[in-house]
Amino acid sequence: MQQLDWSNLPFGYMKTKYNIRCTYKDGKWGELEASDSEYIPLHISSTALHYGQQAFEGMKAYKGKDNKVRLFRWEENAKRFQNSAEGILMEKVPKELFLQAIVKAVKMNAEFVPPHGTGASLYIRPLLFGSSAEMGVKAAKEYTFIVFVMPVGPYFKEGFNPTKIAIVRDSDRAAPLGTGTLKVGGNYAASLRGTVKVQKAGYSSPMYLDCVERKYIDEIGAANFFGIKNNTYITPKSPSILGSITNKSIITLAEDLGIKTERRPILVEELSTFEEVGACGTAAVISPIGEVNDLEKGKVYKFCRDGKAGPISKKLYETLVGIQYGDIEDKHGWVTIID
Ligand SMILES: *Cc1c(COP(=O)(O)O)cnc(C)c1O
Repeated sequence: MQQLDWSNLPFGYMKTKYNIRCTYKDGKWGELEASDSEYIPLHISSTALHYGQQAFEGMKAYKGKDNKVRLFRWEENAKRFQNSAEGILMEKVPKELFLQAIVKAVKMNAEFVPPHGTGASLYIRPLLFGSSAEMGVKAAKEYTFIVFVMPVGPYFKEGFNPTKIAIVRDSDRAAPLGTGTLKVGGNYAASLRGTVKVQKAGYSSPMYLDCVERKYIDEIGAANFFGIKNNTYITPKSPSILGSITNKSIITLAEDLGIKTERRPILVEELSTFEEVGACGTAAVISPIGEVNDLEKGKVYKFCRDGKAGPISKKLYETLVGIQYGDIEDKHGWVTIID
């Protein structure tokens, strides 16, 4: 294997040795199989290709000082994967099968788990899609479940330095009774116009607003939003955002640290009252935000004027990452060690 520069890895695709596959056919899941190919034979009329019957997950494996590899709250990902499948009428992957596939994918690619202290981790991408042929609009009869992995560095090139984002008002990533709460590719297809638009304008991610009135903050690209003021961690409550497991964990950690928490609608204008704001997710971890530009309204909200993350974001980041890498006691039983 070529020598990897662990401390300078981008967040991007990289081929690793094996991926794990399993198919649902004739009413049951088959055996897990390891493949060294990056390609899949796919029917030209599969429902995944035509009707977007596809869902995915994103999680990470972390190497501790003890060289043991850890998963973080895998059961939450398994649950959400089932919820996404149910939401677009796909066959659900049983929790045990989900865990087995992940453990196998991590173990068979053990040399790609970044060493402790490099800030990198092994990104795990479980994928599920309808793979049988249909032409009329219907759910598939066969499903393919794949898990592949790759070592990654920070999602935003700024790492834990403040990133800049911009509000999108001329497209929505989700609809009120649509699939915003599911982790499905269709939401990302809908978000591409906004994402590319803000990236061309020099911002790292789009901020989407509620899709009814476009008054409240929904979420940021592939991450949830939070704001902090008066020792309170505030994150949006909305029927069209993806429930982030990272966000849910930060809420618990904030409460442990004596920080108040609120989940409620957040008006865009409330941005001017926050002391710290950030994005959170498996990929983003906790990424401080230095600027939110409301391009169409010509209004700019600035944070981190000294160029650094705020003290509460920093404390939450250190606590979360400390638990994930095994440096801080796992009081909530979130970590699973892969033996
Ligand atoms: C995956 C994802 C997140 C982050 O969720 P985590 O469970 O924290 O990784 C947030 N928003 C969207 C749209 C996502 O797809």
